[in-house]
Amino acid sequence: MKTFKKGGVHPAECKLSAGSPIREAALPKQAVFSMFQHIGAPAKPVVKKGDMVKVGTLLGEAGGFVSAPVYSSVSGKVTKVDVALDASDTRRMAVYVDVDGDEWEASIDRSTTLERLADHPELDSQTIIDRIKQAGIVGMGGATFPCHVKLCPPPGTKAECVIINAVECEPYLTADHSLMLEHPDEILEGVELIMKAVNVTRGYIGIENNKPDAIRLLTDHAQSHPNIEVVPLKVKYPQGGEKQLIDAVIGREVPAPPAIPIHVGAVVQNVGTAFAIYEAVMKHKPLIDRIITVTGKSVANPSNLKARLGTPFQQLIDECGGLPADTGKIIGGGPMMGKALISLDIPMTKGSSGLLIINQQEARRAEAQPCIRCAKCVTACPMGLEPFLLATLSSQHMWEEAEHNDIVSCIECGSCSFTCPSHRHLLDNIRLGKQTVMGIIRSRQAK
Ligand code: SF4
Ligand code: SF4
Repeated sequence: MKTFKKGGVHPAECKLSAGSPIREAALPKQAVFSMFQHIGAPAKPVVKKGDMVKVGTLLGEAGGFVSAPVYSSVSGKVTKVDVALDASDTRRMAVYVDVDGDEWEASIDRSTTLERLADHPELDSQTIIDRIKQAGIVGMGGATFPCHVKLCPPPGTKAECVIINAVECEPYLTADHSLMLEHPDEILEGVELIMKAVNVTRGYIGIENNKPDAIRLLTDHAQSHPNIEVVPLKVKYPQGGEKQLIDAVIGREVPAPPAIPIHVGAVVQNVGTAFAIYEAVMKHKPLIDRIITVTGKSVANPSNLKARLGTPFQQLIDECGGLPADTGKIIGGGPMMGKALISLDIPMTKGSSGLLIINQQEARRAEAQPCIRCAKCVTACPMGLEPFLLATLSSQHMWEEAEHNDIVSCIECGSCSFTCPSHRHLLDNIRLGKQTVMGIIRSRQAK
């Protein structure tokens, strides 16, 4: 069975909410919409205090080409346009809406009738990309890169295939898995739309073999999509990394930055993004909700919730049995790449794939010991880096050497920290070093 070649680790899967059907979360009393739910320029608010909005009303327009508009997921009254804390622990501009009823914009098709691309010859590549851009679709796997940008290959490059990331290799998270089990046909139509957008005739859906039910179901439904192949993959973290997935599925290696997947002919999109694209193009539905896994060993009812963007995390946890008494840490995302949250007042955004509640015992961090030069971190690194060296260079502020040793290629997967027997805080140091070196490179390029 296929997998990527370099490095990788096998953390305990802990998929506690696997098999739990998608539940619709209740509407919040107040929804808060950050204008910064994507990579790139923040959206610019186009509403003001006192405005009445519906589900699907534009709240913020895209702030540039690499940006995405933000739409209301609720109906009600705008009470303020002001800063709000987000999951990155930063205060950013946001629109606050007090919820009243659940009135939708008439342009959105709320029916569950399956629309097939084959029945819509009017949908050419540009129309599909325009609708995706207009709907504010971003990478739903957590990267939140505006989708339309990836669908417009830079000059000199050409897409050869579309690869759908349905790996969900982060422990605990099951949002994508539940989506595949409940919406296989919509996902397949979404893949067809992406393929048409970038003018390719080959699509792959990579799924790890710890989800045999999803592999079976999608393979079965793909019978009527002869250009789409479901590719079962051997379980290995971080197979959901773009470069690792491309290697696993089509055996091509993406060179070091600034090279990107399109340089080897691949356009990679998350399976949740494929579903959102289906809804955007076929149902005229902007990105206003998503599936989020709320989970943890002490959580009473680990769940996959379909929740409106802007809903406070506290409410989502309450819907799964409340915050356990032994909570040690709350993480936005999964345990390997997620970030600790400092408040539950934070609203859900387009990139919110999971809320993981770690108990006090699990949250305890072992004290870092001296490096024993075992090279386990080197063996685990899927990017072929030397994590022990990068962490040291970073902690000693040796930025030039860190750049020379390719710190910017780090995908922040945490495999090095996970595998280190000395419990060294490798990822923390490397992440800091990567940010600093990227800043240095940017200012050098700006001169
Ligand atoms: S976090 Fe970076 S350095 Fe560590 S294993 Fe992952 S890619 Fe390698
Ligand atoms: S795994 Fe830890 S102890 Fe081993 S070489 Fe890497 S940093 Fe050192």
